[in-house]
Amino acid sequence: MGRAIGVLAVEHVAVGLIEDNRVAGALHLYPEKGRELAGLREMPAETIAQCVCEQIEAVGKGLAVESIGIGFPGIIRDGLIEESPNLQQVKGFQLGASLSSELSKRGISAPVHVFNDADVMAAGIAATRGHLGRFIRVWTLGDGIGFGRYPWAEGVWEGGHCVVTLDPKEHFCGCGGRGHLEGIMGHRSMRLRFLDMEPEEVFENARAGDSRCVTFVRMWHRALAAATATSIHMDGPGKFFISGPNSKYIDMRLLNMYVQEMVKMSPLQGSLFELVSVSDEIGVIGAAVNAQSRTRLTNDD
Ligand SMILES: [Zn+2]
Repeated sequence: MGRAIGVLAVEHVAVGLIEDNRVAGALHLYPEKGRELAGLREMPAETIAQCVCEQIEAVGKGLAVESIGIGFPGIIRDGLIEESPNLQQVKGFQLGASLSSELSKRGISAPVHVFNDADVMAAGIAATRGHLGRFIRVWTLGDGIGFGRYPWAEGVWEGGHCVVTLDPKEHFCGCGGRGHLEGIMGHRSMRLRFLDMEPEEVFENARAGDSRCVTFVRMWHRALAAATATSIHMDGPGKFFISGPNSKYIDMRLLNMYVQEMVKMSPLQGSLFELVSVSDEIGVIGAAVNAQSRTRLTNDD
């Protein structure tokens, strides 16, 4: 396996040199831990690209690398950020082209590939858990609901915005769409729904038997089961990892029961869920793994 550089740029930037699907040396972080610098939210698009290039240059130390991969939030096509709800300033920005030209000024000519951050997490999980030969999907439960898949494939895959209910009153999704998975499961959406309690308390009260909270927690699981069942009906059964801060609320027994109710055709049964904790390191490894396979595919053409 060649050497690659992986980048994860979400709220901060993490960059690592990857050899044999492992980080060689330490990850470079921007802003460095403990330093009070602005995160990506406050940076113009060009500054984000420049900051990423500086980190790549520092990590590469003049070594030859086969490819450079970057995981970034949003809908991304051929290096163009078509939409990025949490980083509005980058909408329409040619991140891939901008990185390539800035890097070539610095004498770095390796091909650059840009991926959705959830997809690089999926690739990182596959690489660190011995699943590189398999098809896996990953739900990330946080403020938003991320959906990633490995192996990488051309497409949009905004699984967090799957429609899971026809109820027009379900309008809490951050994108403004009605009936979306994120509108039920997302942390921000739960806070909008329960103005009188935090999500933590909703799950606590459900355990104590509060009927309004019990009903919601069932719907929360049913929503994830429905989106998973849709993915199974479109792409077949398989392994689904669940990560992110709110994965701690998952009741596996309930989730499995609902999926079994929703998927009845025998060739589509037998999907498995597994909770997994993720880190910058996993995302950085995944970005490099995806970039290497893209680079090799391009070279084979
Ligand atoms: Zn939505």
